[in-house]
Amino acid sequence: MKNAEPILQVRDLYKSFNGVVAVEGVSFDVAAGSVVGFIGANGAGKTTTMRMMAGVDFPDSGEVSVCGFDAAADAVQVKRLVGWMPDAYGAYPHLSVLEYLDFYARLCGLRGAERIERVREVVEFSGLQELGARPAAGLSKGMAQRLCLGRALLPRPRILIMDEPAAGLDPQARMDFKQAVAALQKQGVTLFISSHILSELEEMCDSLLFIDKGKIVHQGLRGGLRGEGEAPGAVVVEIRVSGPVEELFQWLEGDASWTLTERLPGGAKAEFGVNSEQALAGELRRLQDGGLQVSCFHPQQRRLEEVFVEVLKARRSASL
Ligand code: ATP
Repeated sequence: MKNAEPILQVRDLYKSFNGVVAVEGVSFDVAAGSVVGFIGANGAGKTTTMRMMAGVDFPDSGEVSVCGFDAAADAVQVKRLVGWMPDAYGAYPHLSVLEYLDFYARLCGLRGAERIERVREVVEFSGLQELGARPAAGLSKGMAQRLCLGRALLPRPRILIMDEPAAGLDPQARMDFKQAVAALQKQGVTLFISSHILSELEEMCDSLLFIDKGKIVHQGLRGGLRGEGEAPGAVVVEIRVSGPVEELFQWLEGDASWTLTERLPGGAKAEFGVNSEQALAGELRRLQDGGLQVSCFHPQQRRLEEVFVEVLKARRSASL
């Protein structure tokens, strides 16, 4: 994260549709320069929250401010600062990809040579060079996603809000997407990305927000959620040795700090009570000092899916 200052602040948002509560008292800050993952199951309230952040819908109550501008009172400024990438795009039947982008560039207020240059830049950044003459309405999922990205980038947003951008992408398109996210972060753009699949966001986000039934159930740094450093607890370590593996089994079984959980060919998985880098480094030294030739010592961090399920369970049992 480049800067801890919040670029966007959400305060106590509420939104219902015909009596169905979609968002209920949601508050959080988005730090400038960060990549935030917004995680929740289908219907949890992600799209509704993001539409209000992007200024394309308004809350029943509560506030969104971007760089100090209020999304309701200063809607024009906020729309210039926020790029919105919805999960589906409506293309006009007769427009080519280039005409489509040009049309949106005009809507953003870009004129003349500046407009032409900006369209050229987003075409290049989003990898649309080969598609300029193609009808915007008939693109594959991956191509359409690149067009949506290009469209959202036209006004040079400070923060880009993306609704399920990785859904349905093939592996190559997902890799391209990750690279685009990294490149935008490098340019100083803050990114806010939703998904209901944690593994889609796991590698690219530096902080995560979990939403369930319209309420934020957890927020924090990715490492903190996984139990790295900030949240001590037991950790399972995969250990491999180049000498006789029986010696490793004996060592683990004879040491009160360790519990041997699985015997492997050439190694073992074992649980250690303190999940901290310093303590684990000390344990590695102890193993080596004990005469074991350790060729692999790999702490296995919990998958984010597991953490998410735990967070939801804890939250739901607390509210019973
Ligand atoms: P998904 O992952 O399925 O897109 P989501 O987390 O984005 O889900 P929302 O689309 O924000 O969830 O929906 C939250 C709740 O609000 C759901 O119960 C949904 O049915 C309801 N809802 C959202 N938009 C509308 C609308 N325009 N009219 C009526 N109900 C709506």
